[in-house]
Amino acid sequence: MENDNNNQQPQEEEPQLIEREIEGVTVLPPPFIQDPITNETTIIQKEEAEPAKETRNEEGFLLKTIHCRLCDCKILTPKNAKLVEKQITLINKKQSNTAEDLKYMWFLPDMFQFENIAFTKDVNSTHKYLSCAECEQEVIGIHYIGSKENYVAHDRIIYK
Ligand SMILES: [Zn+2]
Repeated sequence: MENDNNNQQPQEEEPQLIEREIEGVTVLPPPFIQDPITNETTIIQKEEAEPAKETRNEEGFLLKTIHCRLCDCKILTPKNAKLVEKQITLINKKQSNTAEDLKYMWFLPDMFQFENIAFTKDVNSTHKYLSCAECEQEVIGIHYIGSKENYVAHDRIIYK
């Protein structure tokens, strides 16, 4: 017998909005983070190891330079970002059907603190993805248009 009733109904899940305070700024992650993620997207709950202690000082500020892990382009220099824990579901590439839940993020309140960075075209009116300026291969973080905040995922970069 054939079983044609196996199709799963796509579930509309309300994204969880958790208010956080970072450096005196109240941050409400907007629901659009979920936008590029459809029911065909595989979301991987990534078990991340905390970044090594020597990547930051006691206040959490970056002590290393951050580079693209594919082409070595320099993305961030010391002191220009602060390590925060904030869960963001990031697709792997611009047209990708896989995404990862990542939580260790380098936070920059200002895009001018980047050494080199590329922004995707607006995914919608509220955010863009960050990519390496040289190779533009991977999504390495997210930029919120309204608050101008930037988050670079520890898991998608290397340190030098
Ligand atoms: Zn690159």
